[in-house]
Amino acid sequence: MSQNPSTSTSQVTSEAARRRTFAVISHPDAGKSTLTEALALHGQAISSAGAVHGKGSRRGVVSDWMSMEQDRGISITSASLQFDYRDCVINLLDTPGHADFSEDTYRVLTAVDAAVMLLDAAKGLEPQTLKLFEVCRARRIPVITFINKWDRPAKDALELLEEVENRIGIKPTPVTWPVGIGGDFQGVVERLASKPEEGMVRFERAPGGATLAVSEQLSAEEAASRFGDAYAQAVEESELLAETDANHDQEKFEAGATTPTLFGAALANFGVGQLLDLLVDIAPSPFDRESDAGQRRAVDSDFSGFVFKSQANMNSSHRDQLSFVRICSGRFERGMQVTQAESGRTMSTKYAQTMFGSSRDTVEEAWPGDIIGLVNATGLRVGDTIYAGKKITYPPLPAFAPEHFGALVMTDTSKAKRFRRGIAQLDAEGVVQVLYSERRGDATPVLAAVGPLQFEVTIARLRAEFDAPAHVDNLPYQLARVTDAAGAKALKTAPGVEIFTRPRDGAILAAFPNKWRLQTIQSDYPDVKLVALLAGG
Ligand code: GDP
Repeated sequence: MSQNPSTSTSQVTSEAARRRTFAVISHPDAGKSTLTEALALHGQAISSAGAVHGKGSRRGVVSDWMSMEQDRGISITSASLQFDYRDCVINLLDTPGHADFSEDTYRVLTAVDAAVMLLDAAKGLEPQTLKLFEVCRARRIPVITFINKWDRPAKDALELLEEVENRIGIKPTPVTWPVGIGGDFQGVVERLASKPEEGMVRFERAPGGATLAVSEQLSAEEAASRFGDAYAQAVEESELLAETDANHDQEKFEAGATTPTLFGAALANFGVGQLLDLLVDIAPSPFDRESDAGQRRAVDSDFSGFVFKSQANMNSSHRDQLSFVRICSGRFERGMQVTQAESGRTMSTKYAQTMFGSSRDTVEEAWPGDIIGLVNATGLRVGDTIYAGKKITYPPLPAFAPEHFGALVMTDTSKAKRFRRGIAQLDAEGVVQVLYSERRGDATPVLAAVGPLQFEVTIARLRAEFDAPAHVDNLPYQLARVTDAAGAKALKTAPGVEIFTRPRDGAILAAFPNKWRLQTIQSDYPDVKLVALLAGG
């Protein structure tokens, strides 16, 4: 079926133009959940956000957002949260961390148009943030930086900027600058539209921190009289920044050369409204995506999208499979027939949802930038394209660098057939990477994953869906490189190294116990091809 003729392309264009689809990249504990709640509160997707309580119960293999739903009875999907802000529709995609960190976390970044890099002001850049940033860089996703927890003792603001610039090679262009050092956060000087000498925005903690923070514009005289040295220093530093070319430049931001930077405290709601304003004002709206063949599909053309995440059995009372689709072009209307590009099969989209968990809502229509969940769309795999009208196939999603390896051992050998079928299915769905080594033979596949959760999910699904019990014996590898047949031959007997094939894409991987072993191999075998995978070690 081609696109509903009653939908004008100008409506698609204007709906797409008001979408902002982004994810927060951060290390655990930087404040992502707190920021998410604060953003949703500003956007009025939920009426009131309680202070984020201690971790304890929120930890575990269920996404934070699922627990948030359960705890508080609010409807937030575990994949994306949608709310209105000003005249825009904001789609915030979850990048699961903690125990949930997995290949899916990286894949989420294939579905966004921008990212917010959330840093703990006392810690700066942390490992998980760096990995996620590398994916943004490789995919040319513009990044806004939010320096969080400025209400607590922190690193020096200028030092934080230097750290970002020196370690990841992207220049911070602060759009706000803090008045008061970390722990003495009075407010910010705004650098984007107004000049520092025009005064500051003062933040005031709202009682309980649960409602919107009170902020007030102070003139330069008021700011100087109330915050004296702190204000003078902020103005001075801000001017210094202008001299070092650290002012926002839209083109450089979109090219990934600079990162507009804000200071705030998500817990007190400081700077959160400014972050939303910045997203609306400068973050890109959905653009014409490139197909596998290198052609661009205009956002206002026929419907198309791709699956970036697939999740099974999310809710024990609904044992089903959800495929999360990022809409790239056209209008989605529930019930429309779509074609799966890879197989040419058509399917109905009667069961499309935006929200689920304790309450499941059906989505009737959606636009470029939006995320829909298709229920039991059998045969849809991560990376697949679906479309209406003119055919399009989006590029396959990359396989990301595994950091966990384990031999998958069948516990009941009489179920070998089911076991093989299960493995093939889970590999195809992108649940885990399945590898084989000559050393172990075909009966013992090796699982490779970005996070150990992927092993748990594999074992649980093998048992529940294929009646093929198995367990994983962890292997002592932490990183892998892509090599070729010559490399595989050369390294075959190198101690500590194991060579694998990955049937999914035909790649040959060399796995190493740690980066030191990799380094010695690189110097001992200078001619061997060893190419890093996306993100990871
Ligand atoms: P996540 O692991 O990134 O989702 O982090 P959380 O949102 O759970 O926050 C981790 C801890 O940092 C929690 O105890 C929060 O209350 C606290 N936190 C988050 N944002 C701020 C902030 O702006 N200031 C302060 N002082 N604490 C914060």
